[in-house]
Amino acid sequence: MQTMTFPKLGKISWRDRASCRRSDPELFFPRATDQRRIRQAKELCRLCPVRQACLDSALVCEDADGIRGGLTADERGPQHKAVADRRDLGRVKAVLNGLDTHLNKQERTVLTKVAGAWGITAARLAWILKCTEDTADFHLSEAAKHRSTDRALVRAVEEATTPGTAATGLGAAA
Ligand code: SF4
Repeated sequence: MQTMTFPKLGKISWRDRASCRRSDPELFFPRATDQRRIRQAKELCRLCPVRQACLDSALVCEDADGIRGGLTADERGPQHKAVADRRDLGRVKAVLNGLDTHLNKQERTVLTKVAGAWGITAARLAWILKCTEDTADFHLSEAAKHRSTDRALVRAVEEATTPGTAATGLGAAA
């Protein structure tokens, strides 16, 4: 039998592939007037294989400092609200199918409701939510109590279209 192993709690796998992982962190926190540094940081981001995951992370975590995903904090500003309002069931489906990417609060709530019906284990759910297995177990137990009322939601996630990688950047975090 094949045994699946998942990264430990808190480990964010895409960061291992970041172009900036060996760069001076100061480069990504330039003064607003330091156009030379801003250009240098953005050039690294432009070539970064996990650029979209980095941007998603900054938006979901409301990280308002420094250059992330090729954008300065000011440039990211308008996108914060759009991410908070998102309820993309295709994105939830992609994560249930194994994609390592960020979900916002609404999407994480949907995922906890449907995870049991998808056969997601507490260990896997703990990794997705970056929580303990006890907490994940609690979520699965609660979801099981509401399985009948959440049936339509389970079906909606099953039928959701997983967004294409090019348009959404979902593939960047895989
Ligand atoms: S996109 Fe993010 S992870 Fe990649 S180089 Fe830029 S700041 Fe680093």
